[in-house]
Amino acid sequence: MTDPSEASREAASQHFECVVMKFGGTSVEDAAAIRRLCQLVLRPSPHRPVVVVSALAKITDQLMNAGWSAAAGHLDSAREILQVLHRRHETVASGLSKGDERSPLFSEFANEFKVLDKMLLAIAAEKAFTPRSQDSLLGAGESLSSKLVQSALRSAGVDAALVDARKCIVTDAAHTRATPLWEETNQRLQAVLVPLLESGQVPVMGGFVGATRDGIPTTLGRGGSDFSASIVGAGVHAQRIEIWTDVDGIMTTDPNLCPDARRVPRMSFDEAADLAYFGAKVLHPATLVPAMRNDIPVWVLNSRNPDCAGTEIVACGEGDGVKAITSKCGVAIVDVEPVRWFASELLREVFDVFERHQHGLDLLSASRGSLALLVSSVSALPAVAEELKGMANVRWENHKALVCLVGEQVRRRPEIASQAFRALGDIDVRMICQGASERNISFLVDESRAVEAVQRLHRAFFSKSEPVVEQSASLAMCQAEGAW
Ligand code: ADP
Ligand code: ASP
Ligand code: MG
Repeated sequence: MTDPSEASREAASQHFECVVMKFGGTSVEDAAAIRRLCQLVLRPSPHRPVVVVSALAKITDQLMNAGWSAAAGHLDSAREILQVLHRRHETVASGLSKGDERSPLFSEFANEFKVLDKMLLAIAAEKAFTPRSQDSLLGAGESLSSKLVQSALRSAGVDAALVDARKCIVTDAAHTRATPLWEETNQRLQAVLVPLLESGQVPVMGGFVGATRDGIPTTLGRGGSDFSASIVGAGVHAQRIEIWTDVDGIMTTDPNLCPDARRVPRMSFDEAADLAYFGAKVLHPATLVPAMRNDIPVWVLNSRNPDCAGTEIVACGEGDGVKAITSKCGVAIVDVEPVRWFASELLREVFDVFERHQHGLDLLSASRGSLALLVSSVSALPAVAEELKGMANVRWENHKALVCLVGEQVRRRPEIASQAFRALGDIDVRMICQGASERNISFLVDESRAVEAVQRLHRAFFSKSEPVVEQSASLAMCQAEGAW
């Protein structure tokens, strides 16, 4: 019997080849940005585009502020935020279209903001901004931007069709960090997008959002539109996925920290996934998963500098030195010390307790006497400590940052670790985690010194006067697991 996904893959590829073009917040931030987007979609291409958009820059944060204000009983200021957002969308629309074209869009906006106002009233009445109501409120940013972009594309002569992402991306009910239910999502994406593409239309949909099987709105986590693009790309068997953003591609580090950061022309899926996992905001951490599974190349490109070649992310990267450096702040180190000794039951119990409190564990090392965990939020730790009382003592230290060097096989080259140590100099490195992966070396430093650590490492590995890797270094690797 033919595998149904194989059959649909064949069916899809027989008719057309497509590209998913995702535009982040800054790439849709105002009328000029949306005009650039239209130019990019209109560029001659052998692939039919599917457009995925984020909310306009900063809108999601502002919706979040409105929600929290309403929950805190400041309904007036919450409503003022909505008014500002409403005006901003109207201003952008006015900059993109003539009076008669814009009136349907204005009435769409009016309806949407009426619904948002009702949501704020409900949040204020409940005095709580629950994860579920966050997902309903925050998703409006993408709904508004997709309408704006569809209308702009139509004005530019593109036969753009609005697609409701909540009807296509089916997720579990883990509000604010939902995971797609792949089979249903792929089926729906095929059912909705393929006929549009076949008829020559350009589907436009909001990123970041999904809904449960029952239609309850969910979101994929902050920055999740990248993930949406990859989900859609996998669902329609795209030839490529393009992430259009505000930098020239994946850089050797965040250019906000090091203005001399350089573009990385090519990376492997694994390298880019590690970089995203360890904090590089340029990609949502889950972005590469669907692309990797379906072997679809991902390009990170600059919508303000579209002629720049960007970064190509493919199955096999090239080179084996350090490709990029990243840092992740807001990490806490948790020490779990057994009251008696470590037994496998205790390990299981520790994981269960963290799981019950929905506490993601970032990294782990174990020694004979204790277990060291890294977590990105301390909110549940008092409850975790209480549950483990009698079995283990739980202590934690906050305000740490994980600084990470990423590149194929960096661990196989001891000179890289020694060069990094020398660069970090007097910075107190509290824990060195090499994890299971050969592609990264991570250091735990005080949050207050994270920027300096990244800058020093960047200078050591990427400054033009220095070789990328010093071959002669002989310092021993001393990454004793759990030594902190
Ligand atoms: P978008 O709104 O397009 O999704 P984001 O703000 O989420 O864009 O991501 C782009 C930003 O990621 C850049 O402006 C840059 O500051 C940051 N960034 C962090 N690390 C890197 C890196 N290694 N390469 C490129 N950009 C990075
Ligand atoms: N608008 C959402 C956010 O700001 C999703 C995204 O931009 O990718 O988190
Ligand atoms: Mg982003």
